[in-house]
Amino acid sequence: MLECEVKSGWAQFIEFIEARCSSAEFENWIAPIRLIESAHEETTLEVPNVFVQEYLLGNFKEVLADFLPLRASGDPAIRFVVAHPIPRNTSSLTGPIEPDDAPLTDLKLNPLYTFDHFIEGPSNQFVKSAAVGVAARPGKSYNPLFIHGGVGLGKTHLLHSIGHYVLENHKKLRVQSITTEAFINDIVDNLRLKSIDKMKRFYRNLDVLLVDDIQFLQNRLNFEEEFCNTFETLLNQNKQIIITSDKAPGQLKLSERMIARMEWGLVAHMGVPDLETRVAIIKHKSELRGMSISNQIAFFIAEHIYNNVRQIEGAVNRLCAHSRFAASNLNEEIVERILSEMFQTTTPHKRISVENILKSVAAVFEVRISELKGESRHKEIALARQVAMYLAKEMIDDSLMKIAASFGGKTHSTLLHAWKKVSDQIQVNEMLRRQVQMVRRNIET
Ligand code: ADP
Ligand code: MG
Repeated sequence: MLECEVKSGWAQFIEFIEARCSSAEFENWIAPIRLIESAHEETTLEVPNVFVQEYLLGNFKEVLADFLPLRASGDPAIRFVVAHPIPRNTSSLTGPIEPDDAPLTDLKLNPLYTFDHFIEGPSNQFVKSAAVGVAARPGKSYNPLFIHGGVGLGKTHLLHSIGHYVLENHKKLRVQSITTEAFINDIVDNLRLKSIDKMKRFYRNLDVLLVDDIQFLQNRLNFEEEFCNTFETLLNQNKQIIITSDKAPGQLKLSERMIARMEWGLVAHMGVPDLETRVAIIKHKSELRGMSISNQIAFFIAEHIYNNVRQIEGAVNRLCAHSRFAASNLNEEIVERILSEMFQTTTPHKRISVENILKSVAAVFEVRISELKGESRHKEIALARQVAMYLAKEMIDDSLMKIAASFGGKTHSTLLHAWKKVSDQIQVNEMLRRQVQMVRRNIET
């Protein structure tokens, strides 16, 4: 009798969830879970892999607690068994391979990190389209693709998106995704097991290699050479490499040879998303969790958490946990209470206006403010204007359209073009970099 009730608890949970998530989400994540046993004090579920388990607990722990028996801690009492665990030396994902060349580590891609779930905005449009290009034609467009940007801005998300896309659309290609740490550990393990040749063969036979967080290669001299050799072998065969890093190649403490290889293809920067993009991310992430947040609340959160998407996601998770699926009665006051310690209290971007920037640029570049807002194509004026646009995009947290309008009615593509140009120039032009820094300091103090 009891068993029957518990069983129907899982069935009820399924029913409840199915009505609240997208059908794709349900098919991918919930449907593959099998109920093995529902004992008095514990429910046993079979999951195809640990990702599904993490997903279930990460998103629905609180809801599960409403339907299933609980432990003393208040957590749902679930025991997970993983169905047919993949043996360490094979991969079901990378297509047919010789046993000897079997991957040394399984391909681990976060199932939620796909292009579909990546929200585009001006800060990441360029890098996203480069990623899509590379995924569509591996080895035939930019190679390597080097993605750099700050913490929690979606670099790993894009990297895995490329992996998923290739697995789905180029089934014969061998893909491997590694963190730099894992690659180093692999080398160490294989040196110890005297299987380093096998490892080299494996890596050098890949078609697509995804390398996350290359900055961890800094100060690891012995390993840098192995990396570099692997890269060269792959690049020479037109095999695709995608690398992420928290810094641009030139700013990494790595050998010139390594830096040169990484700069060979396309270097793309992942910026901090602007307000509207953050709002779109909040809405998307909350919908993924079966909760719909109003525009007003989404804007409210986006205004208070602005330089890290991971934190934004944390905020959404927290809101979901607190309000379950009853988002309708959320108001700013409640949200502020739930998220107070996550909100960034200093909002330095807010105080800076386009006028501040124009004034400071005009002083440093010795031009008039009216010239900056005007149309003159005179070289010095045009450069100063582009610097002002660059700084406005960097320092002001407002929609690009609004910022551009403050420059005497320019369009947002003009602004983006200026931003891109100055971003590139300051990498190579020391004098300009100093001037930009000077303007920035004047504005900030
Ligand atoms: P990074 O590798 O740059 O530190 P991640 O790729 O791990 O950042 O991203 C952190 C979190 O933010 C992830 O959960 C990711 O899905 C999410 N995220 C970042 N950028 C976006 C975006 N543009 N659209 C949707 N989710 C994003
Ligand atoms: Mg990352």
